[in-house]
Amino acid sequence: MVVVAIVMAKTDSLMFITNRPDKTFVRGEGSWLYDSEGRAYLDFIQGWAVNSLGHCSPVMRDALASQASIVINVSPAYYNEPMRRLADLLARLSGLERVFFANSGAEANEGAIKLVRKWGSVKRGGAYEIVVFEDAFHGRTLATMSASGKPQWKDLYEPKVPGFIRVPREDLGAVRRAIGPKTGAVMLEPIQGESGVVPFSDSFLRDLRKLTEELGVLLVLDQIQTGIGRTGRMFSFEHSGIRPDIMTLGKGIGGGVPLAALVAREEVSLFEVGDQGGTFNGNPLMTAVGYAVVKEISQPAFLARIEENGDYLAMQLRALSQELGLGEVRGKGLLLAMDLGRDVASKVAENALEAGLLVNAPRPATLRFMPALNVTRDEIDQMLKILRQAIQSTG
Ligand SMILES: *Cc1c(COP(=O)(O)O)cnc(C)c1O
Repeated sequence: MVVVAIVMAKTDSLMFITNRPDKTFVRGEGSWLYDSEGRAYLDFIQGWAVNSLGHCSPVMRDALASQASIVINVSPAYYNEPMRRLADLLARLSGLERVFFANSGAEANEGAIKLVRKWGSVKRGGAYEIVVFEDAFHGRTLATMSASGKPQWKDLYEPKVPGFIRVPREDLGAVRRAIGPKTGAVMLEPIQGESGVVPFSDSFLRDLRKLTEELGVLLVLDQIQTGIGRTGRMFSFEHSGIRPDIMTLGKGIGGGVPLAALVAREEVSLFEVGDQGGTFNGNPLMTAVGYAVVKEISQPAFLARIEENGDYLAMQLRALSQELGLGEVRGKGLLLAMDLGRDVASKVAENALEAGLLVNAPRPATLRFMPALNVTRDEIDQMLKILRQAIQSTG
């Protein structure tokens, strides 16, 4: 075995944005990550529900290598082949006809907000307002932060972008009252991810679809965390049998490379020359990888396995919760959360890290599980073993 010496510079040059554990990850394979000391970690975060095929999947490596030897970048002013191929695939899978590629989820949502405003100016007398929900998370650009309902951001970076009307979750009456002549759309995550995996009910989503149709406004679904197989269906709106006018994709669509998409019905795709664009948008290297990832995940057998493993993980988490007297287990497919009943989630995540497991604590009393979509039963069992100890050692 060849041992590669990696000279680890103690990095003080990064701008401070968050506290990170004093570890540096140097290698990944499937559900496993390795740090610079050679320790292995079972990864149930996977880049925040991003590495849908796990670390360094051969599918992605092949797509990257072969596209890198064909062409890496053209220019957003010209077509490239992978961009067209991936757009066709997404259109076919979603039943929405038009695709614009972006580099991050926030940028895709920013594009969705612009498209709503464009549609409103052309089709609805200058309507520009968007009804959004409490605890929503739509990204970190100024407009998407303004659309988000994260309580900690309330007073940050004022003044916010105007035009977002916030209503409580699952409250159809409040949505109806918030919609007026200036309203262009209602925008939501079918399962609120960052706020702790909190799903909207299928019946609410169906009623909301009916209401937006009745009142003539658009329905925008942020499927950045819940799209591309994460919930066991290609897009989570399939669970409720509805279809949005606009949806955004990100995270898992690139399997770990920066790629996102704004997808919309033909009739609302009203951008004119110069209205929307970006230097890297539709970059062939990224879209070639996205194509390989989406094609792999969209196979019925692959999706069925996500559902099976998701059900298994949920069942085991429920059993653990019952045994240790914890709280609710929520979510769909391989996007799950467990309430701990006490504000020990960060402590559990810390204990787990020390024991070789990466797990996320989105709220003080909630853990979130977002493993690779091809995680195995055995890896789930190993995770549960470490998790049990990490919870028990909080006392
Ligand atoms: C992660 C996320 C975003 C933002 O995506 P970025 O790629 O971080 O900009 C937006 N919406 C939802 C639902 C997300 O989970």
